[in-house]
Parts: sequence; structure tokens; C-alpha cells
Amino acid sequence: MPTSDVVLGTVPASGPLLLVHGGAWDIPGDEVEAHLDGIRRALRVGRRVLDAGRPALDVVTEAVAALEDHPAFDAGRGAVLDRDGLPQLDAGVMEGETLRWGAVASVRALPNPVRTARRLVDSDGQARLLVGEGAERFAAEVGEPAIDPGALIVDRERRRHAALLGAHGYHTSQAFAGDHPRGTVGCVARDADGRLASATSTGGVPFGRSGRVGDSPLVGAGFWADRLGAASATGWGEAIATVQLCTRACDALASGLAPAEAAAARLRDMRERIQWEGAAPATGGLILLGSEGPGGWAFTTPRMARGWWSGEAGEGAAVDP
Ligand code: ASP
Repeated sequence: MPTSDVVLGTVPASGPLLLVHGGAWDIPGDEVEAHLDGIRRALRVGRRVLDAGRPALDVVTEAVAALEDHPAFDAGRGAVLDRDGLPQLDAGVMEGETLRWGAVASVRALPNPVRTARRLVDSDGQARLLVGEGAERFAAEVGEPAIDPGALIVDRERRRHAALLGAHGYHTSQAFAGDHPRGTVGCVARDADGRLASATSTGGVPFGRSGRVGDSPLVGAGFWADRLGAASATGWGEAIATVQLCTRACDALASGLAPAEAAAARLRDMRERIQWEGAAPATGGLILLGSEGPGGWAFTTPRMARGWWSGEAGEGAAVDP
């Protein structure tokens, strides 16, 4: 598939709707099955929460926690390693009705950063984004478990880190077109009462600088939900944050565009506007739904792991265009 194309798809729905993604990049053939397995597990978890009548905010948190637990993805266990050879995790979650959100960035010892982000949604609002040690201290205060960062590292990432240590001229933007590991995860949901929510979680880019934070924990960039729509992004974080991809995609729904078209239009716009010297084209993927009707996804990378469920469409998962 030419990487310049935008691939898009629609999921018919009139009521509750669940969309998940497991990252947009050139997923190698031998990792496809693991990605589909993780996507299906997350859909099962999300549907269970949805069927129990719990709000969309709980649905996206639990589905993303399931993806963090699955080692196929660049989030939680299985995350890529930074230049120091350690995982650096970011996550954000948001509720559309109240615009309350929570996020954590640059944490190393939390197996499920999305759960700590969720605790910030419920907090008194004096902090919405916490970083590093402060985020880990907050997690301890609210009873979220911590683990040794080494326990999040899988052999696949140790090998990839060793290969990148010896690579010359590597630019983190190249990670999305080539076969460097990518697999940020996300979920958007609409519950039976029409409430919307979004969550995104990532280990960032392979071989990123210590302290580098991408789009995923930045509200409006890597995740967003309001009364109009809910979106979760994956791709080159520096570009996504610059164009505030998720807010803009939700805003595009107001002009009457269907979710898949709105997502595709914003990804095209990003690729056209962000052309920084020395960087690869600004590619990525989005899942998006509105307050009613269908949901959709779009991506400009060779593949994107994604899954969906609605009463009309049933359950499905795919990685190919
Ligand atoms: N957007 C993430 C970041 O730049 C990476 C990804 O989506 O794979 O941190």
C-alpha cells in the first residue's frame, strides 16, 4: 500500500459503540496475530463493562488497561525503551459530558498508567496532568499498584533497543513508516445513555530522549472527548501535538463530516502542514465517533491495529488497509 494514501473505514451504529486501536505503523507479519488477539481481548473487556451499564469513562479505562496488559503493544508491559533502555509511559483519559480529564506522563513504575489517569478525572481538579515521580506518588496515595520498571520490559524490546543503539541517523519520526515498534493503544466509547469518553496510553517512541513526552497524555492532542465526539490518536507525537489532532477531528464533526471522513481530513491536513526538515512525513491514525450514528477510523501508515463493536456491525478486528 502506498504510504501516502489515507485508509479509512466506517462502523455503522445507532446506539452504544466501542472502538479500540493498538497503534498505526508498519506492523510486521509475524506480529499481526498478537495484535489481533490483544484487540479482541480489549473489545471483550470493553463490552463487558458496557453491558453492565457502566459509563463510557469506565469502558475506555478498562479496555485500555487490557491493552496495557497485553505485551504486543507499546503501552504498559511490552512498551518500547528509551535511550536509557527503560520504559517511559504516558496516558490520558477524558469524559465528554463534563470535560473532566486526567493524564500522567513519563512514569516508569506503573503497570496501568491509564488507571492513575482515571483517578485524576475523579480528583478535585487541582492537577489534571502529573509527571514522573509526582505521578507515581499520587498513584501510591490512591492505591494504584507500582512495580519494578524492569517487569514491563519484554525481550522483543530489549533486542530492538540493542539494534537502535548501533543505528546511525535514526529520527524518531521514522518509526511510523518503518518497522520500528509502534503500538500506542486507545479506545473511544459511547454508552447506552449517549455519554462519550476517550483514553490513550503509550510507551512513546523507541529510543526517545529521557523526559520526552509525545501527544498521548496531552489533552486535545492524543485524546479528547466532548459532547460532539470522542477521539484517540496514534502516530508521530510531535506532529499530532502541533496540530491538536483529536480536538480538531471532533470539531470537524460539527461541519457535518462523518467520523471516518473527519479523521481522514485531519490526518491529511497534518501531513501537508508538518514538513520539518530531516523528519519523515507526519503519519498516524485516529479512531473517532460522534454523539450519534456511525464511528470511523483512518490512518496514513501501512497498517493500523483496530477493533470495533456496535449492535449493527457486531465485533471485528483488523490490521490491514
Ligand atoms: N503517539 C505516540 C507518541 O508519539 C506514539 C505512537 O502513537 O505510537 O508518543
